[in-house]
Amino acid sequence: MSVRVVARIRPLLEKELDKDIIVRPASNDDGESSTVVKIPNPRNESEEFSFTFNSVYDQSTTQEELFTAEVSPHLKSLFLGLDVTIFAYGVTGTGKTHTMRGGLKLADRGVIPRLLSGVFRRAKKIAKDSNGDTTVVVALSYYEIYNDKVFDLLEPVEKRTPSGLPLRAEANGKTVVAGLSERPCQDLKDFEQLYIEANTNRVTAATKLNAHSSRSHAILRVKVTQTTRDMVRESTASAIDLAGSEDNRRTDNGKERLVESAAINKSLFVLSQCIDAIARGERRIPFRESKMTRILSLGQNNGITIMILNLAPLRSYHLDTLSSLNVSSRAKRIEVREIENEIVYKQPPRSTTNSGSNIARQPLRP
Ligand code: ADP
Ligand code: MG
Repeated sequence: MSVRVVARIRPLLEKELDKDIIVRPASNDDGESSTVVKIPNPRNESEEFSFTFNSVYDQSTTQEELFTAEVSPHLKSLFLGLDVTIFAYGVTGTGKTHTMRGGLKLADRGVIPRLLSGVFRRAKKIAKDSNGDTTVVVALSYYEIYNDKVFDLLEPVEKRTPSGLPLRAEANGKTVVAGLSERPCQDLKDFEQLYIEANTNRVTAATKLNAHSSRSHAILRVKVTQTTRDMVRESTASAIDLAGSEDNRRTDNGKERLVESAAINKSLFVLSQCIDAIARGERRIPFRESKMTRILSLGQNNGITIMILNLAPLRSYHLDTLSSLNVSSRAKRIEVREIENEIVYKQPPRSTTNSGSNIARQPLRP
């Protein structure tokens, strides 16, 4: 399986209705949906570049349609023990946060609340169908990477250490954030409360630093632990809203933004280098050069990875759009092994009720 790369072109906002549209899905005479995005060559507008993706969603695509087509099918795999990663990539203002988080109205909700809703539904069904033999615990972590530093978003801003949290490689080869908090979540209401609070933390922290949240990567990690009498199966779904991929050298940032922009550009630059190196089949992939790429570990982790390229169709985004199309279309060549996480078999139960697992504290109510 390769990384699945899909493009989503956002509609024009009200204030943009008079603007020039230059990005479009290729027309398809058969009425099938197109998998090609076209954009003019900025050096010669009579020429058009074409980029092919696994799927292209045009401006009429609803949140529900995107979720149903791209994320929902992987819920089953998640519960079979596969890790699922969904990340949004693109220029600031192209719809990454809209796609991942979305609005408050039911129809506007993005991938993340829909994912959680699907996880809870499936978890309850599994618990019920097993007559209580399987307990499912859903736990949430949420953090941001800003200037190559990791900050826990479930902790109050005042508790942050300036240097952030370190990363650690686990025995199974996965990279995790050391000391990251994890909160059990019983249902969608629990989740929403945590999520809203955490997003407020994110904005507060950004405001304090006179920064903007579109300059950090936000990573939500949903850990699903299924426990039966004799085994524990753990898998995670990660939903990532990456920082804007625009080239800050081209924007009119003030001096105070320079350091910050360089670092943010760096992690996204490293990501594009990783994608290139993997696509070319090179042995050395520069994952370690930024925390974001270490965490994302494209093509290293087993499981399912979906990259959503968000696009604004406007001419004002021309060069940055072209660059994001270039990076993401190369990401299709990355192979991912679809291997389930190992099941951990418990020791034969001793006389105590807790056989060494500290994970299954709060099973979901069936
Ligand atoms: P980003 O996170 O990539 O910077 P946003 O998600 O904040 O971009 O989107 C920029 C603006 O466009 C927001 O006002 C958002 O509500 C709007 N928008 C983005 N995608 C869509 C969409 N598919 N439908 C309607 N509005 C959208
Ligand atoms: Mg955003």
